[in-house]
Amino acid sequence: MNKIVTNDGKGLINELGLDAGTLKHKGNYWFTAQKDGNEIEIHTAPADEENETIEIKSVTMNGEELEYCEWCGELMLASEMRKEEQMGYLCERCQMAIESRGEELNYED
Ligand SMILES: [Zn+2]
Repeated sequence: MNKIVTNDGKGLINELGLDAGTLKHKGNYWFTAQKDGNEIEIHTAPADEENETIEIKSVTMNGEELEYCEWCGELMLASEMRKEEQMGYLCERCQMAIESRGEELNYED
């Protein structure tokens, strides 16, 4: 995952749909939060020299990795998606939509 958000807390909350008031700074570019009552852990990295933005490197929910579907942009469990060689992670709905257009998908898994 490499998503850039503003480094003011709101960037993470809005981007990941975190529950209000649950975002906690735990350490160096390391945060925890809740999302719909689930435990979220977020690892980030600086994304510019002024430190105004940060890059989301990884997000886990209850210990399971979350990723974005590259086609619809939805955040979901990586284990519920497949990784296409060119496009990256695709959710089941998008896999079917793309294949129904006659495009061939080649999965890494
Ligand atoms: Zn999708």
